[in-house]
Amino acid sequence: MRILILGGTTEARLLAEDLAGRPDLAPVLSLAGRTARPLPPAIPHRIGGFGGAAGLAAYLREHRVEKVIDATHPFAERISANAEAACGSAGIPLLCYTRPGWQAGPGDRWTEVAGAPEAAEAIGEAPRRVFLTVGRLQLPAFAAAPRHDYLIRSIDPPDPPPDLPRHRLLLARGPFTQESETRLMREERIEFLVTKNSGGEATRAKLDAARELGLQVILIRRPAVGAAPAVHTLDAVLAWIHDAAPEERGV
Ligand code: NAP
Repeated sequence: MRILILGGTTEARLLAEDLAGRPDLAPVLSLAGRTARPLPPAIPHRIGGFGGAAGLAAYLREHRVEKVIDATHPFAERISANAEAACGSAGIPLLCYTRPGWQAGPGDRWTEVAGAPEAAEAIGEAPRRVFLTVGRLQLPAFAAAPRHDYLIRSIDPPDPPPDLPRHRLLLARGPFTQESETRLMREERIEFLVTKNSGGEATRAKLDAARELGLQVILIRRPAVGAAPAVHTLDAVLAWIHDAAPEERGV
């Protein structure tokens, strides 16, 4: 069965590793090409945009794709919308494979906001030391709050460089441990952590560290999910591939 996996996440990479060992399936992993040196996938892959929903629909036809799994990041809204439109028009089943969002627990000091501009505002008027792990695309919104000292962590250097008078870049790829995150935030005298509600284990240690240190967290909410069925586990994806109705829905 020809399956297209839209990836760029740990979930997609692990799914690809799992499917690599199944001779009845012919999966292809698609990456946007944002990361300069992506980890080498376990299955055949392609890199780069399709050219919108129409381009993706043409790709699906040309490669006679039978099922599509959208395992992109919960904040990658455009590709998910394109997948829904392209699969809808081509009559190809689409499954959304996403990690559940993080939930606040006892001791967490979270403020949830709708987007990056609201996050920049929520830090407040007084100059603060802020740990920013929001992804490169969201950085321009923080130019509206130039008074803070930002420690910006990303996998690759932001291009263009952040337009923030007081910032430092930390280039690193997770997973991180709670211990290392606590050490980092303590050494940097961080007061606010600003991040997106990406969910998943690989990057949750920073939230545990923030709780340990009693820091305030500003969490950008997830965009709304589309109409495609959504599952959170590899087993549920495998069941769907083999035609079982997905048992989990929503995020
Ligand atoms: P986006 O805004 O939803 O997509 C922008 C464009 O990039 C899409 O219209 C599509 O171009 C192309 N694209 C995105 N994902 C693709 C894929 N898997 N294969 C082929 N083309 C893809 O996405 P984004 O937020 O820029 O994220 C880009 C990639 O990074 C995604 O694959 C996502 O899983 C990963 N990622 C995103 C985040 C995040 O916070 N947004 C975090 C970690 C990883 P065309 O219209 O030309 O097809």
